[in-house]
Amino acid sequence: MSTKNVQEYLKEISYLKSIQALLHWDMETMMPRGAVEDRAEHLSYIGSKIHSQITSKKYASLLKEMEGMRLKPREKKLLKELKWDYDLFQALPEKHVVELSKAQTMATHAWAEARKKNDWSAFKPHLQKLIDLKKREATFYKTKTPYDALIRLHDKEFSSAEIDSLFGDLKKGLLKLSHAVKKDGSFVKVKNLKGPFDINAQKKLSAYAVELCGLPASHSRLDESVHPFSINISPLDQRITTRYTTENLDSLSSTMHEVGHALYEHNLPREWAGTPFQEAISLSVHESQSRFWENVVGRSRAFCHFIHPKMKELFPAAMKGVNEEALYHIFNKSVPGMIRVEECELYYNFHIIIRYEIEEMIFNQGLKAADIPAIWNEKYKEYLGLTPKTYAEGLMQDSHWAGGAFGYFPTYTLGNLISGTIYQKMKKDMPNFKKDVGNGKLGKIGEYLKENIHSKGRSVDAKDIVGKLDVKDYLNYLTEKFEV
Ligand SMILES: [Zn+2]
Repeated sequence: MSTKNVQEYLKEISYLKSIQALLHWDMETMMPRGAVEDRAEHLSYIGSKIHSQITSKKYASLLKEMEGMRLKPREKKLLKELKWDYDLFQALPEKHVVELSKAQTMATHAWAEARKKNDWSAFKPHLQKLIDLKKREATFYKTKTPYDALIRLHDKEFSSAEIDSLFGDLKKGLLKLSHAVKKDGSFVKVKNLKGPFDINAQKKLSAYAVELCGLPASHSRLDESVHPFSINISPLDQRITTRYTTENLDSLSSTMHEVGHALYEHNLPREWAGTPFQEAISLSVHESQSRFWENVVGRSRAFCHFIHPKMKELFPAAMKGVNEEALYHIFNKSVPGMIRVEECELYYNFHIIIRYEIEEMIFNQGLKAADIPAIWNEKYKEYLGLTPKTYAEGLMQDSHWAGGAFGYFPTYTLGNLISGTIYQKMKKDMPNFKKDVGNGKLGKIGEYLKENIHSKGRSVDAKDIVGKLDVKDYLNYLTEKFEV
């Protein structure tokens, strides 16, 4: 077949990426702390190998060769995706890549220290430096606005104009809905389960959730890390992590979230190994999968019904007097907070909209790092009615900006919106959806997602799966959940 040569070449790069991923996973979970210097060397060695393979003359000529062939529609799509990746790589001068990488490392280090001490002035110059570099980077790509260039590094299907319109509608809908939920009060006044929660019981619950969702134990591991994550070593080797504290049961939702990511990677088509067809469509679609398992399934009334006896068995003291209905309200407790990663579904997207609006001001309107705190506070007051007491619970709470990942945040909310559309479609395609969840038959959901999304990789776009995105699907999902 005509694409064989390219595929063969890419296979070696995919091996290097697998090795790189394994080194990363090990660093975050198992590696003795003192080994970090050596590990940084190993990672940068592999990174440079991958870079030189992708930018090699040989690869360029293989792509040229493919361009000259008579291709079938599927191969044409493959070529389009290959060229997309290649062009993104080629557009950046090496000098810029090196400078940016250094600035990212420095800023991340400075951010971690400054966050501990709540020292904004120590982080500010690093942030401004990254903004300047990312502004320069945006000029290397030909897009309508500078911010568009950064967004499409994370999701190439949405422009800032489209996101403006989606987020505008979402904002209106969420404000209305959150007022109604507040007025109703039943998801606001509910008391959380009272700990302490036994760690061993939590481990059992998480392992049970992994099994329920259909991530095979023969192809995955669940471990612990400071920040939960999932990493794809190869489709047959998925690693996920969660974190346990005796104070709450967040380990369950974070496990289900990471399982959603892992299932996507596990089900990508093996026959396209090494090519974009064995990759997820975008970060937004990736996030739609994790949110689907965590929220649409994991916080549904049907799932509360199913998991209730198991929770009583594992946490008898905390669950005393808590019936299924109460558990449903606890799982969906809705009170706005300052911290994005701890936020409930109803208010989560406001945190993203705030970051998105600020990023747009930075890259399209020239907002300076020094002026971000004031805007940040203004927007938190306006959308959530809250004011951060410290920088650490304000604009220094996330690592994204310190890592130079501007344009990343919108993919979280796009992922939520996509999960809402998938839910509406699934209810039609699987009329027994809620019954199945209530009986713990989650494997059927996994099969549906595999068939309709995972197994296609990047041979399709998000719009082929969910059509033109409409916030109504997601808002209807939330309205159904909060019964207002
Ligand atoms: Zn995620």
